[in-house]
Amino acid sequence: MITPQTGGFAAGVLWGGERLRHTRGVVTLTETASFRGDDATALVEASLACRICLSGEIDWLLRANEWDAEAECRCRGCEAVRTVSLTGEQALRLSVDRRL
Ligand SMILES: [Zn+2]
Repeated sequence: MITPQTGGFAAGVLWGGERLRHTRGVVTLTETASFRGDDATALVEASLACRICLSGEIDWLLRANEWDAEAECRCRGCEAVRTVSLTGEQALRLSVDRRL
């Protein structure tokens, strides 16, 4: 009798289930993050800061799959929500820096 193994989810998949969102031909307003993978935390924060009230108090949700990565950012000040597209390097940076 083989006992099923538990805990087998890939640790690198932080937020799954977003693949169906990848729609073709639909233009969405998406920003591109401007920080580099080795930038200081302050620069990463500044890149994700709210464009409306300029608050740096941002809650973000990292979404990554084999094609692309993005961060859904919600401002704690004005609750504006926006999506910032990320390179693989930027997604890695966010995933390792959970203080943001
Ligand atoms: Zn804001």
